[in-house]
Amino acid sequence: MLRFAPSPTGDMHIGNLRVAIFNYIVAKQRGERFIVRIEDTDKERNIEGKDREILEILQLFGLHADDVYYQSHNLTVHQHMAIKLLEARKAFACFCTPEELEAEREAAKASKKAYRYSGKCEVLSDAEVLANEKPFTVRLKKPESAIEFNDLIKGNQSFAPDDIDSFVIMRADKTATYNFACAIDDMLHDISLVIRGEDHVSNTPKQIHIRNQLGYDKEIAYAHLPIILNTEGKKMSKRDDASSVKWLIEEGFLPEAIANYLILLGNKTPQEVFTMEEAIAWFDLANLSKAAAKFDIDKLRFLNREHMKRMDSKELSRAFGFADAAIGELVKCYLEEGSTVKEIKPKIEAIFSAKPTDHEWKEQMENLRNALKEAPLFETFDELKSYLMKTTGLKGKNFFKPLRLLLTGAEHGPELSQLYPHLKSYLLEIIK
Ligand code: GLU
Repeated sequence: MLRFAPSPTGDMHIGNLRVAIFNYIVAKQRGERFIVRIEDTDKERNIEGKDREILEILQLFGLHADDVYYQSHNLTVHQHMAIKLLEARKAFACFCTPEELEAEREAAKASKKAYRYSGKCEVLSDAEVLANEKPFTVRLKKPESAIEFNDLIKGNQSFAPDDIDSFVIMRADKTATYNFACAIDDMLHDISLVIRGEDHVSNTPKQIHIRNQLGYDKEIAYAHLPIILNTEGKKMSKRDDASSVKWLIEEGFLPEAIANYLILLGNKTPQEVFTMEEAIAWFDLANLSKAAAKFDIDKLRFLNREHMKRMDSKELSRAFGFADAAIGELVKCYLEEGSTVKEIKPKIEAIFSAKPTDHEWKEQMENLRNALKEAPLFETFDELKSYLMKTTGLKGKNFFKPLRLLLTGAEHGPELSQLYPHLKSYLLEIIK
């Protein structure tokens, strides 16, 4: 089973969407289930409604989950497991206050040493623990030897016991920390492979250690994806608009193009433009680059045009808020003029809006409008053109400029002969 485990703490980042896509693809390839687990145990960071938003985005991208779980529903299981570890003396109660720990952290920083837990509470006797009524966290004792794993992208990884440290698994409010909840849930869901961002590499030995201590010996494979960089070569953060999936959608990028781009990024693929279905046929984690990939919005714009070109006209029409396939065809004529729904939509709307009446071509436009009202429905633009030239007596610039304005609401744009087949059934509406 594969899983996507987002925290409902902010707008979905493209890095997270990429993680979701890869997990989905591998699940399909292996014929395993794909689940979504909303990691909502950090109440202070949760944002109301972000879980729904994440699920809607997954839906929009066609990443259908076989099941959706909320991590907080597993609270009692996490608590039971913590008690089990305490009883086995693999974990211990820690009464250090946040202030004390902060002071120790500051001291480590001042002496330029990496902070490690002092081990103070590990040596408390049972009597001392029972007599203490102060709030406490639960820490898992650090491992005795290094924890190693083979990352499918980054290769062999080894973490020394001191780097894993005796870390907190239950907060003072008796909820599980991220590492504890995640390690247990991956075990309970029988996850076979975890694909996630590289920012989690140092969490992995902790999660493996937790499961080892719980006696779970089935191996979970890991693949940590390199981060995505912005154009300045820095990690793409909330400050980069394009890092937000919602922003990209609002800008008029199609889910098909965004997914294509995220699969292409830092990858060796047999073609550049493809659908998710096609990617399922050849996607291989082994082809992903170990190095961070740079986000390139121009490439995404190119892919967006390519996907619009290939899209079923009726579907494309719907993406623009229309219903008729002819509008989808019309949009395809405008791909030189813009790359996104947001850029092209005003041009399509201008065609159907009232045309300027105080224009320098006002008279000619009126003349053409009257002629068009009386005109039969011509199959081709050439036929219409000859008819209109004859009835209005206009020619050259005096004919084409006002006709373009009348039909498209713009002075420039695609060839009228190219647009006409898709406009002809709306002519009366357009010139009204
Ligand atoms: N909830 C974590 C996050 O959103 C992901 C954890 C994971 O994939 O293991 O960063």
